[in-house]
Amino acid sequence: MDFQDYKDIWVFIEEKDGVIAPVSLELLGAGRKLADKRASNLAGVLIGENVKNLASTIFEYGADIVYVYDQPIFKHYRTESFMKALLDCSNKYKPEIILYGATSTGKDLASAVATDLPTGLTADTTELDVEEETGLLLASRPAFGGNIMATILCKKYRPQMATVRAKVMKALTPVRGRMGKVIEENIALAEEDIRTKVLEIVKETTKKVRIDEADIIVAGGKGLGSAEGFQIIHRLAETLGGVVGASRDVVEAGWVPHAHQVGQAGVTVTPKIYFAIGISGAIQHIVGMKNSGLIIAINKDSEAPIFESCHYGIVGDAFEIVPILIEEFKNA
Ligand code: FAD
Repeated sequence: MDFQDYKDIWVFIEEKDGVIAPVSLELLGAGRKLADKRASNLAGVLIGENVKNLASTIFEYGADIVYVYDQPIFKHYRTESFMKALLDCSNKYKPEIILYGATSTGKDLASAVATDLPTGLTADTTELDVEEETGLLLASRPAFGGNIMATILCKKYRPQMATVRAKVMKALTPVRGRMGKVIEENIALAEEDIRTKVLEIVKETTKKVRIDEADIIVAGGKGLGSAEGFQIIHRLAETLGGVVGASRDVVEAGWVPHAHQVGQAGVTVTPKIYFAIGISGAIQHIVGMKNSGLIIAINKDSEAPIFESCHYGIVGDAFEIVPILIEEFKNA
């Protein structure tokens, strides 16, 4: 494999109902830095139906090129069809690096593409860098239960691929009117070629908790003792107009659903304010919330590791402190 043939940094642009997923914009920000370091182009790969008009947004967020596959067959995400388009594009233009959001679509597509291209895939990356000279991607992610950061290299193959967690990279401030080159592609793909059929789209009726979008998160841990004790977390969250977060032990105890879990096996969050109440501060929890704007911890054990990762710490019993906070915030 001649590495000279491979150039540019690509981002798979995830789109739904005409809206680009925030993680794709974040990846354009990260990809721009890698492309500048390599003095190469940053490209977005856009696959869908009636999506061409989104190219201008992709340029505004940092891309130089947008490859577009705009065909009715791409109306809904399906692994086979999207994989065929991405393989077609990659085989034709040979990118050095392809980045995907670590969303259910991104993970599904990246792993499918990796089975066909002669290359590997680093999943759930939280840090990205590139060697200026060689173009080697340095994709880092927590490993061994979050106890170390592992940097994973793909030395023998191109393109190098990684899925990247949402909310860990920063989108650039869009530059209105910034333009680039649109390359329209088309593949001969008939409905009969695709084994998956979309029969019906069922919209969720219950409102899904999106703790990754909340400005204020009040998170509780096993220290609350029981589902009943955990109610003070709900009350404080409600008082502040925030969302409830939880440690894994709380979710495993069945006090709140998994959508509330913060951490390595849950959601990565970056709210303006994060309360960690009765949470010990295990590394697997910390990796999911350490980039919050302001972290306030309440724990009755002054030696709890959470106090090493917070801006303000209150040593004391949550059942004494939280009711006082609720009253104070109500009167504020
Ligand atoms: P504990 O560790 O039991 O801590 C309870 C804390 O409450 C203690 O510090 C105690 O001092 C304090 N406390 C007790 N009573 C009170 C009181 N009345 N008032 C105030 N404080 C009190 N964990 C996650 O959270 N998210 C993850 O995504 C996650 N992923 C994981 C992935 C792997 C592969 C592994 C191995 C583990 C993972 N964990 C995760 C689990 C993690 O290691 C911890 O076990 C977990 O975070 C501990 O939850 P906790 O802090 O609620 O409970």
